[in-house]
Amino acid sequence: MIDLRSDTVTLPSDEMREAARDADVGDDVYDDDPTVNELEARAAELVGMEAAVFVPSGTMGNQIAARVHADPGQEALVDVEAHVYKWEVGGFAQLSGLQVRAFDAGERGAPTPEQVREHAREESLHVAGTGLVCLENTHNARGGVAIPKADIDAAAETAHELGMPVHLDGARLFNACIALDEDPAAMVEHVDTVMFCLSKGLGAPVGSILAGSEAFVEQAVRVRKQFGGGMRQAGLIAAPGLVALDNVERLDDDHENARILADGLDDIEGLSVPTPDTNIVVVDSEAAGVTAQEFVELCDDVGVLGGPFGEYHTRFTTNLNVSRAEVKEAVELVAKAVQSQ
Ligand SMILES: *Cc1c(COP(=O)(O)O)cnc(C)c1O
Repeated sequence: MIDLRSDTVTLPSDEMREAARDADVGDDVYDDDPTVNELEARAAELVGMEAAVFVPSGTMGNQIAARVHADPGQEALVDVEAHVYKWEVGGFAQLSGLQVRAFDAGERGAPTPEQVREHAREESLHVAGTGLVCLENTHNARGGVAIPKADIDAAAETAHELGMPVHLDGARLFNACIALDEDPAAMVEHVDTVMFCLSKGLGAPVGSILAGSEAFVEQAVRVRKQFGGGMRQAGLIAAPGLVALDNVERLDDDHENARILADGLDDIEGLSVPTPDTNIVVVDSEAAGVTAQEFVELCDDVGVLGGPFGEYHTRFTTNLNVSRAEVKEAVELVAKAVQSQ
């Protein structure tokens, strides 16, 4: 099987397993775990923020950020395709009492300053008021789009002029930075907080980082406890996370593999595949008269795994467990499957 369903399917390397076994640990709820503390310090430094907190998942990181930044009854301003809106089970509403104002931020999912101004709402007797602006980079549902620093800066600065905090869902922040040759700290310079995942392209088995100011992280640690994310000897899962931070540069291989996959699939009659910015390849099979569900089954039958991403869209995600040769093989297998339709 060539598993391209997600970059979360990667299995921990021997080095990660050894790091887990050998990690110095303590009770992290007592702030006693040296490995967690090391990971948090390294992660904060990497993104140029004062502090960071290790969380079990990207979803929990985003949800904690919303809870700390905004008050119940306020609005969160997000792109209509944002992960926090589409795929976090309505958490903003249920966990933080927020009303989500989702608007179409365009093909690349990066709100312009004009859009931020247009959709921001000032609190009044009748109006909830915007309590948070959420950005996403890379933008998953928009096809792994890498949003340039200038666009993140412009949206964030506008939000700040309006007095609203900005959280960046950077589950794949380093994919964006590698694709754009941008320093991670520069990329998040103007947002207040950032979440990034260790468990996606970087290959760790578990965990994400939520970074921000010291005051923010102090609050975030409390909310993490409240959400059930206080962990004990978490150094066992933080240690592979530290190893994962060495995998930032190699994301470039995933991006190159994604381009090869996209080019190959685009050459197949009936399939249309734009050149990806990063490691997410979105295949449109409408011209072949094949729904995403049917296409996924077709691919599955020949040993290539992807996931439906809309009625006629299917997502393939290159990752650290899939080699260049396997990507080329996947193209050949899918071509045969489509032709024998
Ligand atoms: C995967 C993802 C998340 C959530 O991360 P989990 O660890 O799966 O909870 C959040 N935002 C984006 C853009 C993602 O792709």
